[in-house]
Amino acid sequence: MNGIKESNKKITIVIDPGHGATYNKWNTVDPGALGFTGKHEKDYTVDISSRLGSELEKTFGYNVVYTRQIDITKKQKRLAWRVDFAHNKNSDYFISIHLDSFSAESNRFSVYYWFKGENFSKEGKRFAESVVNAVTPRGFSRSVVKSANHYVTRNTRVPAILVECGNIQNPVNENEISNERFIQEFAKGIDNYIQAEK
Ligand SMILES: [Zn+2]
Repeated sequence: MNGIKESNKKITIVIDPGHGATYNKWNTVDPGALGFTGKHEKDYTVDISSRLGSELEKTFGYNVVYTRQIDITKKQKRLAWRVDFAHNKNSDYFISIHLDSFSAESNRFSVYYWFKGENFSKEGKRFAESVVNAVTPRGFSRSVVKSANHYVTRNTRVPAILVECGNIQNPVNENEISNERFIQEFAKGIDNYIQAEK
């Protein structure tokens, strides 16, 4: 396809659909938050991740791998497994997909990078800013870049972000995440960051 950079094929992006893997002692799938439609966060995250990954492959030519594409019910799966997966795949970038579940009025799009105490990920911050700059807050009340101490962004050795793609209690937001323009802008924000870092 025209426009795809040959060199992007060598760049591996891990997309991590949040939840849907077992990490409690009852050996049950962690569903994440419950949306107003009755669908859980674990299902939204798989859907967004596969659409985002396809866009990154088709439009930009990146190599995309997923920590999961279905629910995983094996007992040993914990957050560390997601990080180990990223390292085992020799990934270059890591994106964890999540959704908020707040009261229905709230619907911000938030991108987090790792921060604790004096330390923070400069790459993660630039990565987060690039995504927020590319995603029009059409179906969101606002977009924010935030620092946080999340396990997956703290422990991965590559630039990493954790994205809360809005609030699944909010119908406008719920509609927005099914919009293809949202996925296209999200992917563009990722590509802008990667190209700028080269
Ligand atoms: Zn979550």
